[in-house]
Amino acid sequence: MKIKSLSKIDLGFFPTPITQLTHLSSALGGPKILMKRDDLTGLAFGGNKTRKLELILGDAITKKCDTVITAGAAQSNHCRQTAAAAAQLQLECHLVLGGQAPKVANGNLLLDNLLGSTIHWAGCNRKGEDIPEIFEQLKAKGKQPYVVPYGGSNELGAYGFVRALQELETQLDTEEISHIIFASSSGGTHAGLMLGKALFDKKYRLVGINIDKDESAANSFAKSIINLANKTSHFIDSDIRFSDKDLILNEDYIGDGYGVIGQREKEAIALTARHEGILLDPVYTGRAMGGLIDMIRSGKLSKKDKVLFWHTGGAPSLFAYADSLPT
Ligand SMILES: *Cc1c(COP(=O)(O)O)cnc(C)c1O
Repeated sequence: MKIKSLSKIDLGFFPTPITQLTHLSSALGGPKILMKRDDLTGLAFGGNKTRKLELILGDAITKKCDTVITAGAAQSNHCRQTAAAAAQLQLECHLVLGGQAPKVANGNLLLDNLLGSTIHWAGCNRKGEDIPEIFEQLKAKGKQPYVVPYGGSNELGAYGFVRALQELETQLDTEEISHIIFASSSGGTHAGLMLGKALFDKKYRLVGINIDKDESAANSFAKSIINLANKTSHFIDSDIRFSDKDLILNEDYIGDGYGVIGQREKEAIALTARHEGILLDPVYTGRAMGGLIDMIRSGKLSKKDKVLFWHTGGAPSLFAYADSLPT
């Protein structure tokens, strides 16, 4: 791989550990399940965005920016991680969050405030529709703002997940892994893992569990993942190109849509907590683990398989869902 002048800054603790979920696996009568603990990256409660931000904010520093702007849902893990990274690097941080200010700020929102970010409430928009206006206002005040893309999903962010697979190779014999299962939402994790799998010529199946209802044109989320994987490949001067057949995006578990917790998520969170002492989150990893459990129960995964579940973080939002979680 030839990488053009890429500056990375250290924001977390790597490699993240790998745990084996022996009790959960035997309770389900299922395959061997390993878990890659990106919930333990360390940056203000961790998560997959740490890997992306190491490269994206490296770029912001190189470009001498003093302010970052990003967007997300009120309980965005990406925004909380960006706020923490900005504090660490002493950058001003502006977060554009969907919805209205709630009466009580808890979960990730509480942390965004503690970390000193400035919050702009965006009503129905949660994907950064209001960023250009805020960008211009900051410019007019003499700031040098830098826009961190939604979910950190651009070529730099996705490249963080090529590096993650490189890291995985140093930890275990990936020839034995039959599936890598993870939550897919803004697509950077998925695109980076796809490119890494191709670069390292791996055979396992990469199964992204779609989290978010695709409300735009048909298959546009799938297309955007493939597009980002191709752009990232071009970015690192690789000739690899992807098409529809290279993507596995499972859409069976979207339920009532983004951030709406259902029976499947509740059960997955409770089982993982009680059998393994590991906390999942209601929006992403709870849904992805719910999918994995269903694939075991319905026979799509068997005892012959060896599954690696990528824990992408998110547990701080449990506190914002206190009313709907099992007790
Ligand atoms: C952002 C996020 C994801 C999804 O990653 P993408 O790269 O946006 O697809 C999964 N899990 C958690 C906890 C996240 O915060």
